[in-house]
Amino acid sequence: MNFKKGALLLLSGPSGAGKSTLIQTILQHQKDVYFSISTTTRPRREGEVDGRDYYFVSKEEFEKDIEAGMFLEWAKVHDNYYGTSLRPVMQALDAGKLVLFDVDVQGFAAIRKSPLSSLLTSVFVTTPSKEELRRRLAARGTDSEEVIAKRLQNALEEMAYMKEYDYILINSDLKKSQEAILSIAKTARLKRSQEEIQEFINYWQAN
Ligand code: ADP
Ligand code: 5GP
Repeated sequence: MNFKKGALLLLSGPSGAGKSTLIQTILQHQKDVYFSISTTTRPRREGEVDGRDYYFVSKEEFEKDIEAGMFLEWAKVHDNYYGTSLRPVMQALDAGKLVLFDVDVQGFAAIRKSPLSSLLTSVFVTTPSKEELRRRLAARGTDSEEVIAKRLQNALEEMAYMKEYDYILINSDLKKSQEAILSIAKTARLKRSQEEIQEFINYWQAN
């Protein structure tokens, strides 16, 4: 008997810590990976593509989707809505893929409480210091001074939840962080749901 279901790998951490960069590394180096494209009401940044980085929608459209029960989880972050649609995640899991999430601490709390939690591996990505985060946000050049100030404040609040995650990745040397995330991604695939474990026990007994 072969286990064929996928697993979940979730990254959280301050905006600017390097989550997207590390997700790209996994997508480039490993097969059978699916990035869960979130839906958001925040304005598109230069270089971002609708349907690749996010689905960019209006506040009204987002609220309609909440009403329709489309989201596995959703949250308000820095005054904008962000959410994960349930259907594509379930399809990717059924196809045996490792599903990658870039969600905030509220999204992590929701997925951890969901029936998918037994398949979940979580990583909190951060910079070595607040000053380094400020530098990266400024160097990325996509946010105004005001937005950067808000992101730094939010970062401090998010850091309080670090201890809840399976792994902490202090992203100083990018190459080392890339090696670490690839190892975590390999291991994350070994998670099994309660249902799959029971199926395996039944099979094992019968053979
Ligand atoms: P996030 O997805 O967490 O918001 P990004 O992946 O967009 O963060 O990274 C923010 C900026 O920091 C980008 O310009 C990225 O190239 C840069 N960056 C990522 N990792 C490192 C690192 N280890 N050292 C220096 N700069 C980095
Ligand atoms: P950014 O605006 O920098 O792309 O993302 C801001 C924050 O929103 C980050 O902490 C990111 O992890 C989080 N985020 C992105 N997509 C989702 C989502 O679908 N759900 C939740 N809860 N947070 C998300």
